[in-house]
This record gives sequence, structure tokens and C-alpha cells, in this order.
Amino acid sequence: MSDLIVGIDLGTTNSEIAAFTGGQVRVLGPGDTRMLPSCVGFSAAGELLVGEAARNQQALYPERTVRSIKRQMGSQEKVRVGGKDFLPQEISALILRELAEWAHRALGERPQRAVITVPAYFSDAQRNATREAGALAGLEVVRILNEPTAASLAYGYGDGSRHTVLIYDLGGGTFDVSVVTVEGDITEVLASHGNNHLGGDDFDDLLAERLAAEFEKQHGIDVRKGNPAAKARLWWAAEEAKKKLSFEPYVKIREEALVTRLFRPLHLEVEISRDEYEAMIRPLVESTLDSVSKALQDSGKKPGDMDAILLVGGSTRTPLVSSLLIEKIGLEPRQDVHPDLAVALGAGVMASRLAGRAVERVLVDVSPYSFGVSYLGERGGYPYPHCYKPIIRRNTPLPLTRTERYLTSHPYQTQVDVQVYQGDDEDALKNILVGDFSIEGLTAIEDANEILCRMRLDLDGILEVAAVEKLTGKTKHIRIENALRAKSAEEIAAGRKRIQELYETRGEMADEEWETTEDLEEDVLEGDVLEDDEAAGSNAIEMPAPVHADGNAEIEGLLERSRRLLAKMHAEDREEAIDLHEKIDKAMASRDAAALKEAAGALKELLFFVEGRI
Ligand code: AMP
Repeated sequence: MSDLIVGIDLGTTNSEIAAFTGGQVRVLGPGDTRMLPSCVGFSAAGELLVGEAARNQQALYPERTVRSIKRQMGSQEKVRVGGKDFLPQEISALILRELAEWAHRALGERPQRAVITVPAYFSDAQRNATREAGALAGLEVVRILNEPTAASLAYGYGDGSRHTVLIYDLGGGTFDVSVVTVEGDITEVLASHGNNHLGGDDFDDLLAERLAAEFEKQHGIDVRKGNPAAKARLWWAAEEAKKKLSFEPYVKIREEALVTRLFRPLHLEVEISRDEYEAMIRPLVESTLDSVSKALQDSGKKPGDMDAILLVGGSTRTPLVSSLLIEKIGLEPRQDVHPDLAVALGAGVMASRLAGRAVERVLVDVSPYSFGVSYLGERGGYPYPHCYKPIIRRNTPLPLTRTERYLTSHPYQTQVDVQVYQGDDEDALKNILVGDFSIEGLTAIEDANEILCRMRLDLDGILEVAAVEKLTGKTKHIRIENALRAKSAEEIAAGRKRIQELYETRGEMADEEWETTEDLEEDVLEGDVLEDDEAAGSNAIEMPAPVHADGNAEIEGLLERSRRLLAKMHAEDREEAIDLHEKIDKAMASRDAAALKEAAGALKELLFFVEGRI
């Protein structure tokens, strides 16, 4: 018998499969997300749909689609889909079969044995139903693994010493928090709490309600009533906006021709700020903290007993989650393992160990350093111009983009100096200066002017820092090569000296040209970013608001735009677009910057023509 054992996260919203291949545990599957939506359905012609295709038709044809079947596992009640009845384990088996097929394609071998994860609170009946689903899909389930255990394995807490960790898992439709002790292969879940009906979908609902209300205000039409297509588009737009708000302080939502009235297309156009969004979801996130308190209490542990907080589930990318956890526990949560894939990777670690491989943890590319900019704030009760808070936090997976919002500190301020540091100290001068530039010619307004500072760090260690005046889109940026290389003692000393000199030569200004945000995007795709490390000036920025981001935002945004347009494209364009998606995926996987640039440029051009035609 082959020694292949796969690890599977059979999730409520998404499912993934992982295995040991190429010297490490990897999540297998097509596309860049490698996540299979846990959705099963039938097309109008009765064809079986599993994953993305089923999820896409869910809003329009709920009677032909089933999602979140995990909630029904263990029940003997059948669910009706497309006119046929199924037991929950039969629906789960269809999802498992598809995942096994993904593994087959990736490894050239069909897996026969699997480790499958389940929530810690699953009863025997629910665990048995999961085993049965495996058997129905042709998989011998060699171990049912608790999800918090899988997460702690993915994060490397199965190394032999004893650790107590808090695992906070917020997915699309469920929330779980567990306090776990891990020692080698033995993991004990001391306490678990949660809410089976709380997750990112609720955040989408709140945002979609806000969009629907805005549309009603603008056009007098309530799209929530009797217009399933418009309603489905609104929820999609809400989810996309929500994800963007995890890394941008503002998001502009535009849905063309959401409704047509008397042959006149009516558009939705609205801008939502992170602050407004966070105010909406705050009560929900705060309710998760009550569960954290209960789990700690039941486990007999105090916040200070925790060695780490591990974040699991796509919705933990929401920055409010991290900031409230830091406030409550006083520990920076770890999110260096991709939160959507952590459970699958942990199942993969267990599967590899059961197959006889000594796998300690999974490997991820993370930034070993924090990066940020200095700002005018308060230290010890006095204004201090070198306050510092990281924008990119160390141990975050690469590539990534993060944006923070700052305000000018004086009325009519027209220039801001941006000093970029590597380090974690609250005093910028104790960190390492890695670059600096000025943004000039800002609109002279009496009120505080918003300046967005966007940082992008890629796998090659290239750090791009842009300052954008929100009001006008005016942008100035620099590119810092080798940002991930450890600095030598001399370089550090030289950096400190430069800071000192910088503040002694205040008032001199560099004469630089302006660029718009569009130019910036163009430049990034062309790989031709402005460099500017010569600057001085006296004006400061103040008040950061934390913002997070994920992924290579430009490329992801491009791919997302393209995917949304696929259905509307002519066959030839669609073929070309799919071909370019594959090229981009490949180039990203092999980190081939030239190929990526070429494919992204070609896709951008194609979309330009496609958008002009439809
Ligand atoms: P999971 O069940 O772990 O796959 O998580 C899925 C949920 O994570 C969905 O509600 C997604 O909308 C949400 N999600 C994915 N990416 C992000 C993001 N960048 N910010 C906030 N939520 C996200």
C-alpha cells in the first residue's frame, strides 16, 4: 500500500486538502486560493456541481444548491437538493471526492487514506458521520483530528515542550475558541466555546444591508425585495468590500446597472470607511471576546498563562479581531500561517507523521521584520515627532500589502515627510531607518488632511512605500530593495547617523514630481517605481489608525476583476483570460517577476478592451 496519507479540513464554508510533497506539507489544488467552497448543487440540466460553480448559483437557485452541510452532520434528516434527497454525510462525501481528485491531479496518485478535522465540540454521532463521509468518498479515515489540535500543529507547537495556546477560529459561518495544551503529539483541549452561527457571513450581511439602504436612498428601490439577481450582486459586492477593508482604510463600491428602471440603468456608488465598517461589526467581534473569557475561565487559565494566540479562519484577517484580542490578552496574535489553510496544513502535518515522516511544522514565507513610519504623537505626556507603530508586522506571510491612515498635524500643511523604519520599538529612533521621502504640494486645508501610507513587501524583499493624499489621489513613493536582508552593525550605525542629520537639516525640500494613484498602479505593474531617498522637511504626520492587508493586492485585484468579467466575455476573450490567469498563477508560484509582469500587462490590456465592449 502507498504511504500517502492526506490531511483534510472539511469546513463549513471552505474545504482544503494537504499532503507532504516536495519536502514539505502543502495545500493542494487549483488557483491561488486552493480552497474548495463547501457547496454542492445541480445545474438546470441536472449536472452535479461541487465547489465554486455550486457556490456561484447558490443565491439564484437555493433549491438546487446546498451549503454549510457541516452544521447538519450527525443528523439523520435528509436534505433536498435539485429534487433529490441526501444524507448530510453523502453531501460531505461529494466534497471529499472532489478534494481527493485535486490531490490525485497534483500528486499523480489517488489518495486512499486521510486525516479529517472536526470541531472540538463535535459529538460521537458527528464524528461518525464524518468517518462515513470519508468511506463514501473512498477514503479510509485513519484519524479524526480536532481542529484546534490541527492549528497548533501547523503553528509548530507539536515540538516536544509543553505549551498552552489559545486558538481563535473565526470562519465564514462559525466561531470557535479553544484553550489547548500541547506537548509533542499529545494535545489536550482544556476548554472550547463558540457560536455555531457567527462568522464573516454576518459581517457581509451588515455591509450588504448598508449598501441596500444606500441604494434605496439614492433611487427609491429596495433591492432586498423580489430581485434575487440584484440581491446576489449586492452580497457579492459586500463580501469583496469587506475583504478590501481588511487592508484599506476606505473602499469604493460601484455596481453598474444594479437595477434597470424604465430602460434606465441605476448604479450603486458608495464609499465606506474602515471606521464605519468597524462600528457596524464591533458588537459581533466583542461577543466573541465573551466566549474567549468563558473558555479561559473553564480551562482555569488566565490570559497571562497563554504562550500564544493562534488565528485561524478567513475572518481573522479583520484587523479589529487582532486589536481587540491584543487589548484583552495583551499578546500579539500569531497569524504567520495562512489563516484559511492552517487547519488543513495541521491535518497534513498529522497525516505525514502517521505516514512515518518526522514533520515538525509547515514552512511559510514570512517577513522576519516589522516595517512602519514615524509620526508625531505623544510620549510621556509630551508631543514627540518620532513615535512609531509597525504597518507591516513581522511574521506576516508574504507577499503582502498594508495601509495605514495618518493626519497632517498643522492647518494648511502642504508637505509631509515620511521616514520608513524597520523594527518594533515605539521610539522610531531606536529602529533602523531604511528610507525616507517627502510628499509636497498637498492641498492647503484648515482641517487635518488624510494621508494614506501604503506598504507592499514581496517575496524578493522589495519594499514599496507610497504616501497618498486621500483628497486628490496625489501619490509619492519609494522602492527599497533588499528590505529583508539583515542589516549589519555598520549599516545600523549609518542609519542612526542619517536620522540625526535629517533632523538637523530640517526645512530643505526635495523637488519631486507628482503622480496619481493610477500612475502608481501602472508603475507597479510595469516594475518601474520611482525612487527617492533624498528628502528633508519639517512637517509631521500624526495619529495612525491600524490597517491590514493581504496578498499581492494589485495582481489579486486584477485577477478578481477578470474573474468577475469571465461570464460576460466572448468565448475567445475568455479563453485568453483563463490562459493568462494560469500564466500569472505559474509566474507567482515560481516567483518569475518578468513572466508575471508580462502576463499581468497582457491581462490588463485584455480587460481594458473587454470592459469597453460590455
Ligand atoms: P473560512 O471559513 O475560514 O474559509 O473563512 C471564510 C470567511 O473568511 C468568509 O466569510 C470570507 O469572506 C472571510 N474572509 C476571507 N478573506 C478575508 C479578508 N481579507 N478579510 C476579512 N474576511 C475575509
